[in-house]
Amino acid sequence: MIVPCYNEEESVELFYTELMKNDSFFHGENIELELLYVDDGSGDRTAEEVKKLIKKDNRVHLVSFSRNFGKEAAMYAGLENVKGDYVVLMDVDLQDPPSLLPEMISCMKQGYDSVATRRVSRKGEPPIRSFFARIFYRLMKKISKTEMMDGARDYRLMTRQMVDAILSMQEYNRFTKGIFGWVGFRTKWLEYENIERAKGETKWSFWKLLVYSIEGITAFSTVPLLLASVLGVLFCLLAFVMILFVIIRKLIFGDPVSGWASQVCIMLLIGGVQFFCTGILGQYLAKTYMEVKKRPIYLVKEKI
Ligand code: UDP
Ligand code: MG
Repeated sequence: MIVPCYNEEESVELFYTELMKNDSFFHGENIELELLYVDDGSGDRTAEEVKKLIKKDNRVHLVSFSRNFGKEAAMYAGLENVKGDYVVLMDVDLQDPPSLLPEMISCMKQGYDSVATRRVSRKGEPPIRSFFARIFYRLMKKISKTEMMDGARDYRLMTRQMVDAILSMQEYNRFTKGIFGWVGFRTKWLEYENIERAKGETKWSFWKLLVYSIEGITAFSTVPLLLASVLGVLFCLLAFVMILFVIIRKLIFGDPVSGWASQVCIMLLIGGVQFFCTGILGQYLAKTYMEVKKRPIYLVKEKI
């Protein structure tokens, strides 16, 4: 079980207590548990709280980063550092209910490679956040071949085979929601109502989410790059029509000078579109640049 934590000192123990409510179930199913907390460079006492648990229970483990690398890096580190035949990813804030685990495990027995979860409501979330999230998923459906489910959580149970497939994707710009879809495998979806955070605050600001969504688009679609070509062709056609129009008007009315205002509008529009397209190119170039550097996805400070 992999639990990424960033400044979650209040949640670490609470999560453990809640998870251990399933302990008799784990025993009954002969499941040997390995609980790995990934401390994503927390500035608070998260690591200390985990160490307290390690003293009590030798099934608990810790990987601490040298700084905050983000949840994607934390999940990747988790996947690299667990040994289990089955792996679960879970948030520490109890928004991913551990009470769902028995159902997930029983689904796995029906022959699925993965059991994923999605929230069917976004109750308790700021409406504008939900609005943009919906737009994001709708857009992705149109521009990407990779399947991404609206409301999908990272809360997921997987076989070792699927974990190895995910680990084989060594890209630096990681967008796990897309990676899960990309690797395929038979996935069963469980649905539940949104649950609000038990303690602490969300680590995702609107801005962080926006940047993350651009990451998702560039990582799993190249359609925006096509946009520049399409717009280029459209504007060429438009320009051709305009040229004909201007020549004919000159021949009939003999007035080539008027139309200053319309010309400024056209120049501004085309200038805008050009910057927009260059921007898109820039996004892909920046991602390629980061990939080419081959920097490590995370750095470990401590491992217990
Ligand atoms: N998290 C992390 N690194 C980060 C941000 C978040 O490991 O840079 C962890 C966080 O501790 C939590 C999970 O990712 O366990 C989900 O974060 P959060 O609850 O803040 O996101 P939300 O549920 O609001 O989308
Ligand atoms: Mg949360």
